[in-house]
Amino acid sequence: MRLLNQHALVTGASSGIGQAIAYRFAREGARVTVAGNEAKALAETVQTIITSGGEAIAVETDVRSKADIERMVAKAIAAFGPIDTLINSAGVCKPAPFLEIEEADWDLHLDINLKGTFLSAQAVAKEMSKRGSGSIIHISSVNGLAAEADQVHYNASKAGINSLTMSMALELAPLGIRVNGICPGFIHTRLTKPLIDNPQAIEPYLKTIPMGRVGLPEEIAAAALFLASDDSTYMTGHSMVVDGGQFIKLS
Ligand code: NAP
Repeated sequence: MRLLNQHALVTGASSGIGQAIAYRFAREGARVTVAGNEAKALAETVQTIITSGGEAIAVETDVRSKADIERMVAKAIAAFGPIDTLINSAGVCKPAPFLEIEEADWDLHLDINLKGTFLSAQAVAKEMSKRGSGSIIHISSVNGLAAEADQVHYNASKAGINSLTMSMALELAPLGIRVNGICPGFIHTRLTKPLIDNPQAIEPYLKTIPMGRVGLPEEIAAAALFLASDDSTYMTGHSMVVDGGQFIKLS
């Protein structure tokens, strides 16, 4: 077990990548605080972990709210003690052509994806700095490294996260806190289900991925485990691409 007796806080843990990370970290011995919007889905995630012999609690949290974030961190620490790893996986993506993006759509993406990541990271880093150790992992996207049509607001929010990763790493390294990101490619979750379920859309899309398949949330969880573990103690400020080779392909 690579995270025995550690405490991991995972936002966006009620489904998809965040949930896979919560499950993997629990199997590696971590006590896990799972945070997200939907109480029922969070409770199911916690129950699955407990049934498998792990320890977890759920905290309903809207990552856009500083008050919610402060409550989330306080409840997590009250339950399981100091936080060793924070995973920021909460995020949304609602594609729309640039000329049709409403101000509210822009705000939704920037508020949840970027501001939510900032608020969670700042609140947890304040706690980690008291102990002089910790690892913070942002779930970004290859869309933060290059542009995809109809996702201007999403792309911008993820590019912001990649910048946040470097900037935070710079300031937090002297405090003993490492900050890294993961840039997933196309991963099989609720977010990508509409495209995956459409054979006419998914078949040409798969041709853009050298490995020729969609990634699994568990494959992102494996990268997160590496960044949380003692196998990455000299890494900070890095955004790790996990995408089946999609990003390196010119055409
Ligand atoms: P998902 O299954 O839809 O999960 C998104 C999670 O974010 C859910 O747990 C959701 O919780 C939570 N969330 C949304 N708004 C929130 C808010 N205001 N406050 C708290 N939690 C909130 O999608 P996913 O694919 O796992 O996405 C997870 C992360 O991976 C996102 O940041 C996404 O951008 C990133 N990503 C995904 C892919 C991909 O191909 N799937 C690729 C690159 C990056 P509720 O359901 O409770 O609202």
